[in-house]
Formats: sequence, structure tokens, C-alpha cells
Amino acid sequence: MGRPADAGVRDSREAASLGEAERARILAKSALFAPPAARTADGRRDLVGLSREELAAALAEIGEKPFRAKQLWHWIYHQGATDFATMTSIARPLQARLAEHFIVGRPEIATEQTSRDETRKWLFRFRDGQEAETVYIPDRREDRGAVCISSQVGCTLSCRFCHTGTQALVRNLGPAEIVGQFMAARDRYSEWPSPKGETPRLLSTIVLMGMGEPLYNYDNVARAMRIVMDNEGIALSRRRITLSTSGVVPMMDRCGEELGVNLAISLHAVTDDLRDELVPLNRKYPIRELIAACRRYPAASNARRITFEYIMLDGINDSEAEARALVRLIAGLPAKVNLIPFNPWPGSSYKPSTPRNLEKFANIVMEAGFSSPIRTPRGRDILAACGQLRTEGRRQRGIPVGAEPVA
Ligand code: SAH
Ligand code: SF4
Repeated sequence: MGRPADAGVRDSREAASLGEAERARILAKSALFAPPAARTADGRRDLVGLSREELAAALAEIGEKPFRAKQLWHWIYHQGATDFATMTSIARPLQARLAEHFIVGRPEIATEQTSRDETRKWLFRFRDGQEAETVYIPDRREDRGAVCISSQVGCTLSCRFCHTGTQALVRNLGPAEIVGQFMAARDRYSEWPSPKGETPRLLSTIVLMGMGEPLYNYDNVARAMRIVMDNEGIALSRRRITLSTSGVVPMMDRCGEELGVNLAISLHAVTDDLRDELVPLNRKYPIRELIAACRRYPAASNARRITFEYIMLDGINDSEAEARALVRLIAGLPAKVNLIPFNPWPGSSYKPSTPRNLEKFANIVMEAGFSSPIRTPRGRDILAACGQLRTEGRRQRGIPVGAEPVA
């Protein structure tokens, strides 16, 4: 209808600059919840979490040559050393100088529980006393497993089925705290030095699926993932990292371009009405926009499919009609569907779907050509519902768990 020929181009440019403005707004808000400086009470700086360039700059500040950064990087991320005195390629006087100015930190283990099925869950405590959860889920058949990492203490979003969503966001985790969860888990399985190439690893994948919304803490998550992916250190390929988001559309584009990790989308509903209720962020980024962002996600291919997470809630989102609608929604996408049995927590208002409904739902999705594994509940005996361990620990110590002051 009389639109000038370049209207489409202009529209997409406008959309792109709107996306830029939205990203800037998200990053500015995220900065309000910045983690404290990664330093000990006596002023020593934690070297974990620094990029290679920052490490070289930190060494330059104490008058050391930048090539030392490469050496230290190897000790920290390949060998897993935490004590400068064990870094044998570094002369003793320099070891002592490094120890005066720096540390190689780890979060403190507040609690560690191992389930009967070998799932292990930690509550890690950081320098300011804040805590977050990490879970290791070993593969039963092979020597490998996934480490589920937290990105924030609490969450600003309040998905109705999620226990973390009942906890106000306290703060973002910093790069040292994000990488530190993985490194501390590796310590517990003595998996150092970092296995090279295709050598089997017990801790073989990272899923950013713990507490918090990783795309609302993008900068710190990206810095941490770059460290984890660095070839001369932990050297985990981007194919072995999956970032789960409730659907922060503008940041999905950036994540795909800059990190290229696998993407998991917490979909949970096929209509905006229901998703608005279950995942309130949907009111801002509705299903249509979310799926469009998945379609343009650069790292997705048939070999690297996008995972759609779908939590199965009895009588809420688990009908056969919804299974068929789900299949239509993701048609043509390189995708798989992860059906998650709801893990109830004290005070939650939903019930898990019946095994029969789960199976019917899974079959419809599978017949449409999508892999649709039902995620077997793991670690039920150790409060596996995300966010619960932190609450339980605080309750036992008499600390209020609801809205907390911003640190
Ligand atoms: N904020 C991000 C990542 C952390 S939540 C996101 O929402 O994707 C990761 C997953 O935890 C969500 O997909 C959700 O499916 C799952 N989850 C949250 N509460 C749960 C519960 N009570 N039972 C089972 N899975 C739950
Ligand atoms: Fe936050 Fe994810 Fe829980 Fe939603 S499901 S409240 S986004 S941690």
C-alpha cells in the first residue's frame, strides 16, 4: 500500500537500532547488581576470572613481564594449581612476590551433598557471604557428566514454578565466581590437569541452568565462558556449553554472535496467555519474537540443535493439543525438546504431570521428528529443585530467605 521501496530496509534498520538500545538498557540494569571486587580482605587480588589481557596488566602493575601471564594461565587453568609455591616453572622469589599480591581463589564449600544416584550438589559461598548452587550430574553409562552452574544469586524474574524465582535478585556473580564453581567442582573430582582434546572428562559439559538468568548477567557470563573455552586452559569447546534462557531476546543475538554456545530456551507454554503467567518475561518478549530469535541464532544447526525446555505441569500445559501446538511452533527449527518433570518444592502450587501424560506428550513430539527425552529426575533425595538448597541452608541458620537487601 504505497510503501516506498526502501521501507523494509528502513524497518529492519530501525529494529536493529531498537535492539541495540534495548541491549544497552539491559546491560546498564545488570551493572546495578555488579559483584564486589574479587579481592581478599587484606587486598590481594584473585587471579581467577581475569582475561589473559587483564592478567598481563595485573602482572605489569607489580613490575613483571607480560609473558608471565601465559605461564600463570597454564598453572591456573590447565594444572588447576591454587598455591603459587607449587608452580615449579616459576622461581621461588617470584612465587613469593605473587603470593604477596595475588591469590588463586575458589568459592568456599558451604555444603556438599551426594545423592544415591551420584548426583552431587554444592552450595558455594563467596567472599561476601553470598551463596549459589552448583550441581554435577554424571552420565550413568559413560565417564562424563554435566556441571550445572549458577549465574546470579536469586533472579529478577519470577517464573511461577521455580523456587529461585521466589528469591529476590541479590546480585550478579562475577567471572571468578562463575568459573570458580566449575573449578571447585573439578577439584572435588581431582580432574586436573585439564584433559586435552577428546580425552574423556568426568566434568565434560557446562550447562548454565542453575540459579539466575544468564542473559541478565551477560558480561560476566561471557567473560567466564571465554576463560573456560580458552584452548590453553580448561579448553572446553563451545559445543560443550549450553546456556539456558527464559527468553531475553535482544541478548540471544549477541550470545550467538560472540560466544556461539548451544542455546536452551525455557519455553514451558505454547500460548502467550499461559506463558505470560508461567514465565512473566513473556509479556516483554512474546513467543513469536522468541521463536524468531531462535530461527536466526547463528550457532544452531542440525548438528547443534536448540533445546526447548518444557516443564510438565499436571493439567496446566501437558495436554495432547499442546504437544501438537508445540510441534507446529518449532517446525523447521533444528531443535530438540527436553521434557522436565516438575520438581515440587514447599509452597509450590503445581503438581507434576502423570507418567501417562508425560509419555503421550513425548510421543507426539517424537513422532513429529524431534528428539524428546524426558529428563529423569536426579538427586531427588538432595533437594534438586533449583534454588532450594540455598533456602534450606539459610533457614537452618535462621536467615530470612525472601526479599533481601541489594548488596
Ligand atoms: N534462568 C534460566 C536458567 C536457569 S532456570 C532459565 O530460566 O532458563 C533453568 C531451568 O530450571 C528452567 O528451564 C526450568 O525448567 C528449571 N526449573 C526451575 N524450577 C524447576 C522445578 N521446580 N522443577 C523442575 N525444573 C525446574
Ligand atoms: Fe529465573 Fe530461570 Fe527460575 Fe525463571 S526459571 S525464575 S528465569 S532462574
